[in-house]
Amino acid sequence: MDLRSDTVTKPGDAMRKAMSEAEVGDDVFGEDPTINRLQEKVADLLGKEAAIYVPSGTMSNQLALKTHTSPGDEVIVEKDSHIFNYESAAPSLLSGIQLNPVPGTRGLMNAEGVEDAIRPDVYYMMPTRLVCVENTHNRGGGSIYPMRLIEDIKQVAVRHNLKYHLDGARLWNASIATGIKVSEYATHFDSVSVCLSKGLGAPVGSVLTGTREYINRARRFRKIFGGGMRQAGVLAAAGLYALEHNFQRLAEDHEKARVFAQILCDSKQYELNIDHVETNIVIFGLKPQMKTDKFLADAKSLGVLLSAGTAGKVRAVTHLDVSMENVKKAAEILVNYRAE
Ligand SMILES: *Cc1c(COP(=O)(O)O)cnc(C)c1O
Repeated sequence: MDLRSDTVTKPGDAMRKAMSEAEVGDDVFGEDPTINRLQEKVADLLGKEAAIYVPSGTMSNQLALKTHTSPGDEVIVEKDSHIFNYESAAPSLLSGIQLNPVPGTRGLMNAEGVEDAIRPDVYYMMPTRLVCVENTHNRGGGSIYPMRLIEDIKQVAVRHNLKYHLDGARLWNASIATGIKVSEYATHFDSVSVCLSKGLGAPVGSVLTGTREYINRARRFRKIFGGGMRQAGVLAAAGLYALEHNFQRLAEDHEKARVFAQILCDSKQYELNIDHVETNIVIFGLKPQMKTDKFLADAKSLGVLLSAGTAGKVRAVTHLDVSMENVKKAAEILVNYRAE
C-alpha cells in the first residue's frame, strides 16, 4: 500500500491505449495535434488565453518565474512552498532571482504577511516583482486557500504592481473539494501552473497558462531549459485522458484520506486534527517515544509505505492506485503497530 505520494500512480490499460493511438507531430514546430489539443483544453478549463505543455511541475513553475522576472528581482513565496523547498534553488540558477519566504499557517500566507515582505522602492534593495501561492498546499497537508485570502493577496499585488502566480499542482483537488471551478481560482492570477501527474494520474506532464503574449515568451524559455520536446503527443494523450477520466474521481481520494485520518484519530495513537484533512493528504504526528525513521521503516516492513513530513511528522497521500479497502487496511495496521 503505497501512500508516499499521488505521483506513484501508473498508467492503466485505457490510458496506455489512448497514448498508443495518439496523433503526433513535431511540437518544437508547434505541429503536434495532441499537445495542441491538450494546451487548448487546459487553457479553456482555466479560462486563460494560452497554455504550454512541459515535462514537470518544476519546469512549469520555473518557466513562470523566468517569464515574470529579470535577474536581480525578488519573488515572494510561502516558507513551506514547493518552489522554495523542492526546486533545487532553480530560481537562483535559472533566473538569477532571489526568493523571499513568508511564513504561513499550514502553507497559507495572509495579505499582511505578503505586504510586509514587499521591498520599499530604494536603489539598494531588490525590486519585488511577483507573489506566488500554492493551492492546494503540499507541505501544508493539502490545505485549500480560501478564495477570500486569494483575493486579499491579489489586492496587495495589484496595489504594488506585482504579478501573481499560482502553483496549482493540485488545483484540481481544491476545485473538487470546494466546488469552486478551476477557472474561478485562475481568474485572479497572471499565470497558473497545473500538474497532470499528481492526482490525475498521468505519467508525465504539467501545463503553464497565461496570456498569449506571456505564453509565447515562455515558449522561448522552455526551449532554453531543455523542455522543447518533439512527438510528445504520446505523453499529452495521457494528460488528456487523465483530465477526461480522473478529474471528478478526486472526490474518492479525498474520502479515502478522511477515512484513513478518522481511523488514526479514533485510535488516539497519533496526533492529528481531522479538520486539517481537506483533500488527499494526511499529515500526522507520532507519540514522543516514536522515532520517525524507525516508524517509516517498520510501517514499510508491514506493507505500508509513507513519507516523512516536516518536523518529524508523517505524510500519507491517497490516490488512484490505492483502494478504499487498502486505505482502511493501512490505517488498521498503523493503529495496531506498537514500537518496541
Ligand atoms: C509536485 C509539485 C510540483 C511539481 O513537481 P514535479 O515533480 O516537478 O512535477 C510543484 N508544486 C507542487 C505544490 C507540487 O506538489
